Amino acid sequence: MIKDKKVFILGMARSGYEAAKLLATDNKVLVTDMNEQDAEQVKELEKLGVRVVISKDPSDLLDESYDVMVKNPGIKYTHPTVVKAHELGIDVINEVELAYGYMNENINIIGVTGSNGKTTTVTLIYNILKEAGFPVYIGGNIGTPLCHFVKDIKENEYLVMEISDHQLCDMYKFKTNVSVLTNIFDVHTDFHDSHERYVMTKKKIFNNHTKDDIAIINYDNKEAVDISKDINSTKYYFSKNSKQNVYLKDNAIYYHDEKVIDCNDIKLKGMHNYENIMAAISAVKVYNVDNESICKVLKTFGGVEHRIEYVDTIDGVDYYNDSKATNCESTKIALKSFKQPTLLILGGLDRGHSFEDLTPCMNNVTYVACYGETKTRIKEYCDKIGKDCGIFDNLEKATLSCFEKAQKGDVVLLSPACASWDQYKKFEDRGDEFKSIVNNLKEV
Ligand code: ADP
Repeated sequence: MIKDKKVFILGMARSGYEAAKLLATDNKVLVTDMNEQDAEQVKELEKLGVRVVISKDPSDLLDESYDVMVKNPGIKYTHPTVVKAHELGIDVINEVELAYGYMNENINIIGVTGSNGKTTTVTLIYNILKEAGFPVYIGGNIGTPLCHFVKDIKENEYLVMEISDHQLCDMYKFKTNVSVLTNIFDVHTDFHDSHERYVMTKKKIFNNHTKDDIAIINYDNKEAVDISKDINSTKYYFSKNSKQNVYLKDNAIYYHDEKVIDCNDIKLKGMHNYENIMAAISAVKVYNVDNESICKVLKTFGGVEHRIEYVDTIDGVDYYNDSKATNCESTKIALKSFKQPTLLILGGLDRGHSFEDLTPCMNNVTYVACYGETKTRIKEYCDKIGKDCGIFDNLEKATLSCFEKAQKGDVVLLSPACASWDQYKKFEDRGDEFKSIVNNLKEV
C-alpha cells in the first residue's frame, strides 16, 4: 500500500488510469503519456487531484522529490525517464506490483506465464474454478487492470492472472501461490535485448516462493525445466511424452493414475492446446477440483477469441478464426491442429518475412486464398510448392472463394501468418470481420 508519497506514473492507458485512481486519495500523483488521452478520463483524474501531462519526453518532469514510479509494462527499461528514475534511486514498479500491495494476504493467486499459451491456460483455469463453484477473479495481462478491482477480492477467494514477461520485469514483492510456466521459446527479444535476459525475467514468476508454493512446469520444454532447477517451490510437471503429475497417454489426459478425459471429448484443437489443458488441470488439481467440473469445461470451451476459434459450420464445412496468428510459427501450429483438408487464408502486412517455413505443415492444405500487402509473395510461394492459390483484394473476397471451393468435411482457416496493420487497426478487428463474413455466408 502506498501512502503520503509522490508517485510518477509513466504511461497512462488503462492500467495507468486505474493506478492513478487507486493512488489518488492518499498520494500526490502525476500521470504522463506521450499521446493525447481520453478527455473524460483526464477530467476525472484531475477532479481527484491527479496532474496529467501529455509529453513526448517527460524526463524533465521527474526529480528526486518522487518516491515511486509506476511504469506501463510496454515501456522499455532503457527509456530515458526510466533510466533517470533508477539514477535518482526512485523505485520503479508496475501496475500489478502496485495492486499487489493492496491485496488481502489470504487470496489464492495463480499466475501463468510462458512464451505461448498464457491466455488459453488462464481462461481454462478460470472457467474450471468457476464451474467448480470457487469464488474466482481473472486479471493481469487479460481483462480489466487489477488496480480496478483489487480491493473487491476477499479473503480466501481466488485470482487467476496472466503475467507477461513485460510485467514480470518490474515485480519485486509480488508472489503467487501457484505459478505456471507453459513454455519458453526463442521469441523476439527486442524488449529484453537478449534471450538470457528474457529467460531470467520468466523465472521471476517463481519469485518469493517457498516449498509451500507450487510451480507447474512443462516437462517437455527443456528451457522451462532448466531455469526452474534451483527454485524453492514444490514442482509439479506435466508432459505429453512421459508419466508426470499430469500427462498424455493413449489419447487421454491423466492425473496420476486417474483418467481425467479422452482427447476426443475435448473441444479445443491441437497438441499445443492439450499442453495448455494439462497445465490448467495441474493448477486446479492443487485445489482438489473434481473431474466432472474439468470435463464440463473441456467439452464445451471452444477457445479464446481469435486463437483457432471455432466460428461455425456451413454445409458441413468448419470455419476457424485464428487471426492472432501474425507469424508463420503460429500458422504452423494452427495447421498442425487439423487432420481434415484445409482451405487456408493467408496475407496482411508485409514485413519482408518468408513463407517457406510453412512448407512442412502444408500437406493438408488443398487451396490458399491470399490477400493484403503480402499477396503477390504468397502467390509466388504457392506456385513454387505447387499449391492452388487465388489472389484477392480483401479478406471478404478471399473468404468467399474458400466458401465456393470447400467441400463437406473441409476446414476453412483464417490463420494469416501476417500482422493485420495493412488493412486493420488490430488483429481482433480482422478476426471480427472474418466472423461476420462467415455469418453472412449462411444466408448465401
Ligand atoms: P499467449 O497469451 O501466450 O499469447 P494464447 O493462448 O493467446 O497465448 O495463444 C496464442 C497463440 O499461441 C495460439 O493461437 C497458438 O498459435 C500458440 N500457442 C498457444 N498455446 C501454445 C502452446 N502451449 N505451445 C505452443 N504454441 C502455443
